[in-house]
Amino acid sequence: MSIRRVSILGATGSVGAAAAILVANAPERFEAVAIAGGRDAEALAKTAKLVNAKFVAIADTKQYAPLRHLLADTDAEVAAGDDAVVEAAKRPADVIVSAIVGAAGLAPTLAACDQGTVVALANKESLVCAGEVALARARTAGATLMPVDSEHSAIFQCFEVDRAHAVERITLTASGGPFRTLTLAEMAHVHLEDALKHPNWDMGAKITIDSATMMNKGLELIEAARLFPVPEDQIDVLVHPQSIIHSMVSYRDGSVLAQLGAPDMQTPIAVALAWPDRMETPTDRLDLAALGQLTFEAPDPIRFPALRLAREALRAGGDRPAVLNAANEVAVAAFLARRIGYLDIAGVVEDTLNILATAPADTLDRVQAADSAARTAATAAIERLEAA
Ligand code: MG
Repeated sequence: MSIRRVSILGATGSVGAAAAILVANAPERFEAVAIAGGRDAEALAKTAKLVNAKFVAIADTKQYAPLRHLLADTDAEVAAGDDAVVEAAKRPADVIVSAIVGAAGLAPTLAACDQGTVVALANKESLVCAGEVALARARTAGATLMPVDSEHSAIFQCFEVDRAHAVERITLTASGGPFRTLTLAEMAHVHLEDALKHPNWDMGAKITIDSATMMNKGLELIEAARLFPVPEDQIDVLVHPQSIIHSMVSYRDGSVLAQLGAPDMQTPIAVALAWPDRMETPTDRLDLAALGQLTFEAPDPIRFPALRLAREALRAGGDRPAVLNAANEVAVAAFLARRIGYLDIAGVVEDTLNILATAPADTLDRVQAADSAARTAATAAIERLEAA
């Protein structure tokens, strides 16, 4: 087995940190090249030492001196700034884990695609906002996009690429988040602390809120349509509160292939790192007898409007997914800052989509223009709510 060179972008986030542990624990398989983080110098330095990274980049230039100091006893090359993060993505590697949260992950992901190797993609925005651009860049360079998200990893594992014509539907499962059983009236009064408690997955704040609103599933729906050759109307969302079945693929002959596992991100990360081989992970093993039952329900479009907004954005195409995503980032940040209520998140996104006219998103400039127009419009929508 030849050693795979791995870089991790977003190394201090939950996916990046889990990837780093898998890489560190399998020195016979992996060797770390570059790692990059946002602004947490201490966590980044710790991860750099764990994986013995050769190049360490931090986006926040104010953190350059602290990071250098923390890594003074290593041979690691240290750099700071957005360009340094892109530089980390450009260092030759066999697998580049792209796990920077939000639109900030876009440029580094595209740079990673240009290498023409494997991009283990956990950054939803690259596919959601800049899907046309990212897919074209990956195609040109010959890069393989490996999904790291549990749902897309499940579909990837069940999808017979050579028989795409035989696929009838794909079904994304959703936990339903912490507010699955709340009424709309109850949702109007939920607190930040309640929204941050996810029943099954341990994730960052932004994605945990997205899980509560189900915008996370909406973004995943768009991502699935980009990753797999299946049209929007053949992609279903199914609420499955136990998060044991991670997604399914239905074939024309009536067969349904599902991928199951304990809800632990280490498994989809390991799939992406080791594919087509399988590597050991220490995750809990599935004990179906102990679980007893798995349950399913249809998602409620009234209580979870984000899902409807995402589907409409996917169908409309162009810059709609980028606008949806940017407006959602701004709205979630405002909710996390206790500026708006929980139900206002989807309201702000819908207002933003309605205010801005649809435009093409076939170049990075156009994607970025849509992103900033959406941020401005969403900010104005939040200020109107605060003034009311
Ligand atoms: Mg997911």
